[in-house]
Amino acid sequence: MKKIELDRDTCIASATCIGFAPTAFKLTGDGRAELLVEDAAGIDAGALDNAVANCPTGSIRLIGTE
Ligand code: SF4
Repeated sequence: MKKIELDRDTCIASATCIGFAPTAFKLTGDGRAELLVEDAAGIDAGALDNAVANCPTGSIRLIGTE
């Protein structure tokens, strides 16, 4: 299983990840991103890769194997 990890402590709420993968991330009331799912299986892999690559603070990681 491939798992998404998000470090909310380093998130600066750019919303870049939400633009790429709105079914995986959302902004919360405290202005930071939060995961909607941890399992990456149901999310478009290209969208997730773009979210990881374009997060300005490197707050998102994909861990594990398919
Ligand atoms: S792209 Fe990174 S910094 Fe921007 S909201 Fe998502 S997790 Fe936070």
